[in-house]
Amino acid sequence: MTLTETLSRIVGEANVLTGSDTARFDEDWMGKYHGAPVCVVRPGTTAEVSAVLRATYAAGIPVVPVGGNTGLTGAAIAPGQVQLSLERMNRIRAIQPEARIAVVEAGVVLSRLHEAVDAHGLVFPLTFGARGSAMIGGNLSTNAGGSNVLRYGNTRALTLGLEVVLPDGEVMDLMSELHKDNSGYDLKDLFIGAEGTLGVITAAVLKLSPKPRAFATAMVTLDRLDPALTLLNRLQEATGSAVEAFEYMPDHFMRRLVEVRPDLAPPLGTEAPVTIFLEVAATAPRDVTPNEAGEVPLTALLEQTLGGMAEEGLILDAAMARSEDQRRRMWAMREAAAEITRGLKPQVDNDICVPLDRVVEFLTRAAARLAEVDPSARPFVVGHLGDGNMHYTVLLDSDDPVAQDAIREAVEDVTRALGGSFSAEHGIGQAKLPSMTRRKDPVALAVMRRIKVALDPKGLMNPGKVLPSE
Ligand SMILES: Cc1cc2nc3c(=O)[nH]c(=O)nc-3n(C[C@H](O)[C@H](O)[C@H](O)COP(=O)(O)OP(=O)(O)OC[C@H]3O[C@@H](n4cnc5c(N)ncnc54)[C@H](O)[C@@H]3O)c2cc1C
Repeated sequence: MTLTETLSRIVGEANVLTGSDTARFDEDWMGKYHGAPVCVVRPGTTAEVSAVLRATYAAGIPVVPVGGNTGLTGAAIAPGQVQLSLERMNRIRAIQPEARIAVVEAGVVLSRLHEAVDAHGLVFPLTFGARGSAMIGGNLSTNAGGSNVLRYGNTRALTLGLEVVLPDGEVMDLMSELHKDNSGYDLKDLFIGAEGTLGVITAAVLKLSPKPRAFATAMVTLDRLDPALTLLNRLQEATGSAVEAFEYMPDHFMRRLVEVRPDLAPPLGTEAPVTIFLEVAATAPRDVTPNEAGEVPLTALLEQTLGGMAEEGLILDAAMARSEDQRRRMWAMREAAAEITRGLKPQVDNDICVPLDRVVEFLTRAAARLAEVDPSARPFVVGHLGDGNMHYTVLLDSDDPVAQDAIREAVEDVTRALGGSFSAEHGIGQAKLPSMTRRKDPVALAVMRRIKVALDPKGLMNPGKVLPSE
């Protein structure tokens, strides 16, 4: 029997895609990585995933899991390999409002989970621009971050349990609903962020939070970035750590935004050196119930804090969202980041994280270093400033991979000197393999390799990703 015949027996012929039917899986979202798989197999149950992996394991065939294919590091591309799509495993198995959990399959699209829990007055707080396509299995496998990490943590912090199919087809049941479980090694955390190199995640138990009853949202301009951390800290103190988003958009980002998306003109223009997009949220009646003058206390608190900052000369101006429509427009400006960056080429994308009080130093030192390495290099930056994560794309004139890697290495140098990481939230995939070789602690890398061999002795799960070849 051929491979596709074997797989068709397990999942049905209609669920083994070949030829032009695999087109939407052949390229990543950025259009950087290409390669058609031999076939895309689409199991509908955990038992089918298990049977598929038993078959591929026996035959020694590499398998690459894929969710929404919105990853930004080429991690789900599978040239000449079998791609295993979770898109049919899209059931929300249960929402348990009292326990504040959702039990979901890996193929549930993030925005669908948002809608489903909203009906219960709850939120699954992970959110970012690709939420309409990215799937829970992909979010888990990349340990996705996004704009609300400073309040709720990244995907790992939002996960209680996992179901995983190991490379040989064995099913591991870690579907705990527990907030405490110290029964040995934390295997769940091993699979979160593993980018499909250790097994296939088929389901998860996720934590939910109460849905905010009020938001106070604003865009704030500054003539330099230094006072932004003061603003964040004052807001956290004033609101009891209720800041949900604190995003950095410099002038060159705003100008590009207006160029590509003239429908999203920012309320304070494009010329201020720094724009911060921020949002504070609350659930408590004392913060959300309007007073006699019709003012929402949360909004008043934000206005007061911003007013104080303006009086001290620390901010230039602020525009509050006065309606849900205005709030959504502000979010759209930030979430257009990937779309407006995609067309800028040649580029070297960096997704770095440094301690909060070193972001300004990072930006200054990186710009100086780039000028030394390549005078044509210009940073194009947007960032989750509230957690120290900068998407530090460098535009340059050269398509030469050696010149591009020199840029990446220079950014890594500065990041490392400041105690940072070369990979904050997008993962490693193929894009960051050279950085792994250069920057990951060698002992940690060796331990990762041992874990990989222990769980995937034939090296069949998403080969060539995350771990650089020796
Ligand atoms: C417009 C845009 C905005 C974005 N913004 C953010 C952001 O703010 N923060 C952020 O963190 N990311 C962001 N991303 C990146 C991306 O959306 C996330 O990495 C997302 O979590 C990927 O989910 P996916 O379902 O598309 O995964 P895919 O791209 O399909 O896969 C990603 C990785 O996970 C593996 N994988 C997928 N499903 C499984 C599974 N069930 N079991 C095992 N392995 C699996 C794949 O093999 C691959 O290694 C953005 C992307 C875009 C296009």
